[in-house]
Amino acid sequence: MSKISEVLAKVKERYGESEPNFVQAVTEVFESLRPVEDRHPEFLKAGVYDRIVEPDRVVIFKVTWEDDRGVIHVNRGYRVEFNNAIGPYKGGLRFRKGLNLGTVKFLAFEQIFKNALTGLPMGGGKGGSDFDPKGRSDREVMRFCYSFMAELFKHIGPYTDVPAGDIGVGEREIGYLYGAYKKFKNEHTGAITGKAPEYGGSLMRPEATGYGLLYFTAEMLANSNLKEKDIKGKVIAVSGSGNVALYAIEKANEMGARVVFASDSSGSVYDPEGISGDKFTFLKELKEKRRGRIKEYAERYNLAYFEGKSVWDVIKEEGIKVDIALPCATQNEIKGEHAEALVKAGVKVVAEGANMPSTPEAIDIYKDNGILYGPAKAANAGGVAVSGLEMSQNATFIQWKRKEVDLKLREIMKHIYRVASEAAEAYGHPGDLQIGANIAGFLKVAKAMVAMGIF
Ligand code: NDP
Repeated sequence: MSKISEVLAKVKERYGESEPNFVQAVTEVFESLRPVEDRHPEFLKAGVYDRIVEPDRVVIFKVTWEDDRGVIHVNRGYRVEFNNAIGPYKGGLRFRKGLNLGTVKFLAFEQIFKNALTGLPMGGGKGGSDFDPKGRSDREVMRFCYSFMAELFKHIGPYTDVPAGDIGVGEREIGYLYGAYKKFKNEHTGAITGKAPEYGGSLMRPEATGYGLLYFTAEMLANSNLKEKDIKGKVIAVSGSGNVALYAIEKANEMGARVVFASDSSGSVYDPEGISGDKFTFLKELKEKRRGRIKEYAERYNLAYFEGKSVWDVIKEEGIKVDIALPCATQNEIKGEHAEALVKAGVKVVAEGANMPSTPEAIDIYKDNGILYGPAKAANAGGVAVSGLEMSQNATFIQWKRKEVDLKLREIMKHIYRVASEAAEAYGHPGDLQIGANIAGFLKVAKAMVAMGIF
């Protein structure tokens, strides 16, 4: 049995029931690494495959806080410090009802390879809590964040582990988390990214994941065999309406595309004329400032609203045509049946803004039908890339201009596309960005692990 099969079998046996998302993420990466196994005996000798699936450290802690009525709540906090071979642990915090260790581990595992792909010195980590900020007052969120950080601050730092935002953790939460960190630690350092520019944040960080996704998509199109290689004029389906989705829509509009879908966890809207101009301004204000529901957008503009349906359900059921799909909500949102509907809808490109939004069946369907597939760890790496740039700025006590950061972001997305394509080619799968991204990310981390010995 090959080493890869042996490790996969072990991971499945151990976590198959308790942590299915983690098993899915490891399987996805390891299946891509098969061409690496024979060519790199040094990785086998150093036990890299066994070592890389085991987190360096998992911290689980109690978070006690009081709501506005004086009721006491207890939530669970997580930080998975997975691998720091190439730099400090780095990855976001997710606040979402039902969050569990398996999901945090899958996200931290993915982050190892994504961060390596950016070319910046960042290891892989992720964390969060089963606390849901939706419907909570600012003061409640603040009390939660201070209590969460009362434990987390012991484990993080600018050279140790640097969290950022993710689902449910936006500008407000980062502000409270950083305020708490500063208070407990009595230092003002780059221990968290995604900060507002007034207190050390990088310009362009809020935009980075969504903009980066569009830069990557443009790169995919430009290097493809498709007749039309420009984003301009394309019809795009975006899912979600959070940080990643909003800035993906903004950049798609700027590039001359028409975005006809957006959603939240309650339902989806279809806007055939495109979510742009005043309508986009309304959506941004609704989601970023008022924390409202997407249904209000449909009501305001008299559009179709699909309660309880994802964008992919609607495309499947209504047979709507789109050119590009950008899933920007959550894991496993596109299942096999949805992927089949995307083929029928005429989709040419799927680029992932969310982490692991496509199930393995969906990915197979994209590939079997010639859909260009931009996997999450390459396509959505713009966020962590600018987080890395925020760390650089914090370490040198300077702030770069917006234009400078945007230029660096564009270069990094091009770099990711290039290294993923080259690795795909070099290892016998030309054009397969999934295999290429996994191999390119893995090689960097594995070489560092070998160089530093066995410990
Ligand atoms: P936000 O919390 O800002 O937005 C998430 C959006 O997705 C919301 O519209 C939310 O709806 C929707 N959503 C969340 N869970 C579900 C679900 N189970 N079903 C349907 N809709 C859902 O998060 P982000 O935009 O930051 O993150 C979105 C995705 O992008 C995640 O997979 C994240 O890991 C990934 N990502 C984020 C990065 C970043 O820089 N922020 C970087 C790289 C990846 P509702 O408001 O109803 O909850």
